[in-house]
Amino acid sequence: MSESLHYVCPHCHTTNRIAKEQLSNQPDCGSCHQPLVTGEPVALDNDSFARHTGRSQLPVVVDFWAPWCGPCRMMAPAFAQAAQQLAGQAQLAKLDTEAYPQAAAPLGIRSIPTMVVFKEGRELARISGALPASEIVRWVRSVI
Ligand SMILES: [Zn+2]
Repeated sequence: MSESLHYVCPHCHTTNRIAKEQLSNQPDCGSCHQPLVTGEPVALDNDSFARHTGRSQLPVVVDFWAPWCGPCRMMAPAFAQAAQQLAGQAQLAKLDTEAYPQAAAPLGIRSIPTMVVFKEGRELARISGALPASEIVRWVRSVI
């Protein structure tokens, strides 16, 4: 039997169970039928944050940011580029800490931008400060 994993849809946030080798085969969501692997960061709210970080068996990299934070806005294009390069290996996601402080509070995020890697509800690593795309990719690959 092939290995399968829980993959949370970036569009409707339904948990899909898919075979690992299907990740490179443009799988669609069983619920909303949109592509599961987008290569784009997904914007999370309190609910979808809990789902993605709690259920995904693919590593989830969350960029904690806020609209008033200059370095966060500067890093946004790099984060989007990293999402493309990490498609199928990790789901990149963004959480606006101003709009959804409840999601960020339990993690004790002190400065932004901070990126945290989650897998199956556990925090694997975190890093603070803006990074270029290549360093985001290298850091994520070194911890997943
Ligand atoms: Zn879906």
